[in-house]
Amino acid sequence: MKIWHRITFGKHEGVEHVIDSLGVKITKTPGFDGYYIITFEIDETDPRWPQIAELVRDKQAPDFYNTTFTPQEIYAAEWIRLMPTFEQGYPQPKEGWELATYAHECPQCGAGYRQQAPFHLAKEPRLGRHDFMSFYWAYTVFVTPNVLDVLAAQGIRGYERWDALIHRTGQPSQVVSQLFFPIVAGPGLAEEDKLQPETCAQCGLTKYGYHKRGYMHIKRAALRSDVDVQLTHEWIGSGGHSGFREILISNRLARLILENNWRGVSIKPVELI
Ligand SMILES: [Zn+2]
Repeated sequence: MKIWHRITFGKHEGVEHVIDSLGVKITKTPGFDGYYIITFEIDETDPRWPQIAELVRDKQAPDFYNTTFTPQEIYAAEWIRLMPTFEQGYPQPKEGWELATYAHECPQCGAGYRQQAPFHLAKEPRLGRHDFMSFYWAYTVFVTPNVLDVLAAQGIRGYERWDALIHRTGQPSQVVSQLFFPIVAGPGLAEEDKLQPETCAQCGLTKYGYHKRGYMHIKRAALRSDVDVQLTHEWIGSGGHSGFREILISNRLARLILENNWRGVSIKPVELI
């Protein structure tokens, strides 16, 4: 596991000589009137990290971070988070897709919904070498016919294949189908991972912050053991007007993703408590 930081400093902060002297490779992006910003990536196991971290605190520099896991760490986990990363297009119609697609979405916090109708695509997507796709705006999973074939052949449980419709014609896409996940786990997110809790005044649901650091922890007793995919009970997305449930997949399904080298998703192991 490595926790990666992408850090940005401005010229005015005068830290470039310090970063240089540490031998960190930087990218310089020019701005107006000789101004520039420097950006670089560093992980927390790097011996230079403590000094960089102190500079970041001192200067309150932008610091975007995330965690990457080794295949061995993923193979060792019973449950793994599946996160769509390849996004293309917007659900249609751009105005009103939520009402057409979701039931019970809270107008205030954007959570609490259940999908009741297929998504509409503006046009057939161009996947390049990707096998998985999601939309901008909607946390959802589309896959190629090849992925569907493998899931069916391997007897993966806990999803339904839903058509994705081309908006203009109403015909199913030939390129992707949606994986719909009907099963929701019991309440199980560990207290330590209930980040930035935000309870909606209108619907009473609590959303939590994006989990980016290390392992997410979930109570084993909350999870179904007879399926390969289930959603968390808890909603994620505090600080914004949308919400989603984390998608949890079994070790068996995670292995299929790694062994087939399927692209378009990121997978992160969960620690059961
Ligand atoms: Zn709400």
